[in-house]
Amino acid sequence: MVDKQLLDLLACPVCGTPLKEVKSGADEGLLCAVCFVVYPVLDDIPLLLADEAVSCALWPNRNTPAGN
Ligand SMILES: [Zn+2]
Repeated sequence: MVDKQLLDLLACPVCGTPLKEVKSGADEGLLCAVCFVVYPVLDDIPLLLADEAVSCALWPNRNTPAGN
């Protein structure tokens, strides 16, 4: 769970739109409704990097890196 106050400060690194928290089972992410991508949240740390963005259509069915 991302801290609400932190969530308010978070914005898409690509377009600057405020992000919306989304959850699917154990997977958490932050949705940009403009870019239509989800930024993964790992251990409560949002990965707000364009390289980490997952298409909405694919999230949360992404291959997680080995380890964990
Ligand atoms: Zn965006």
